[in-house]
Amino acid sequence: MNNDYSEKTDSMINVRKGITEKTGELFGFIFPVRCIGCSSLLEDTVRKDAGGFCDICKISVEERGDNFCPVCGVRHTGITGESVCSECIKNPKPFERLFYRFLYGGAMGDAVTSFKYSHNLFAGRFIATESVRFLYDEILKFSPDLIIPVPLHFLKYLIRSFSPTAYIASLLSDILKIPVRYDVLRKIRYTRAQVGLDREQRLKNLKDSFDVSPKKMSLIEGKNILLVDDVYTTGATASLCAGLLKKSGAGSVTLFVLARGE
Ligand SMILES: [Zn+2]
Ligand SMILES: [Zn+2]
Repeated sequence: MNNDYSEKTDSMINVRKGITEKTGELFGFIFPVRCIGCSSLLEDTVRKDAGGFCDICKISVEERGDNFCPVCGVRHTGITGESVCSECIKNPKPFERLFYRFLYGGAMGDAVTSFKYSHNLFAGRFIATESVRFLYDEILKFSPDLIIPVPLHFLKYLIRSFSPTAYIASLLSDILKIPVRYDVLRKIRYTRAQVGLDREQRLKNLKDSFDVSPKKMSLIEGKNILLVDDVYTTGATASLCAGLLKKSGAGSVTLFVLARGE
């Protein structure tokens, strides 16, 4: 952890932690803290340490590491450090960089799923906070002006009564002290779930389903946008949204996700 991050961010996280701990002490007997991966009760030592995962789940959590493509984030084998992958050279992405710390899979996959579909806010907050702790300098190097979440269609929002990406975007806005807008990028067409579709099918499924509100275009003119999504799988959604933001005048787009699939 670097000093810059500690000074500016840890105090805020500590305030959150302080409140959480006090509430936790009070309600800990009634609502014991559970592992965000497998829901087993957490030992006191794990809870005091960092919370989140139990010792068994922790083993299955994989991180990005140091050897990867800086644009799409794919991990390299046999290449050291950051170098743009052949896929990103062949088909340049409309975003500059993917920020992620964790790989989607094992207990992390379960935690992200429980955040997205069971509204497990502890899981979402834990993964987002731990990701930013690791990515803080990397993100600020791109001087984001504005945070924008990938939107949900309002019908999906009505069904779930929760937008995971809006929740992560608001957390990032608090930690990084960067404003967030929920009304710039819109999901204007209801689409079927993307699970099980390949990149081509996803692009077809998503065609014309997002737009940038014409009234809000001036807000992104020449700005560096930090686009927020929950998971990066084929990059179809991220590419569509980033492309739209660029076409609507954004200066640059970077992308933050809780986890990347492989
Ligand atoms: Zn566990
Ligand atoms: Zn790449």
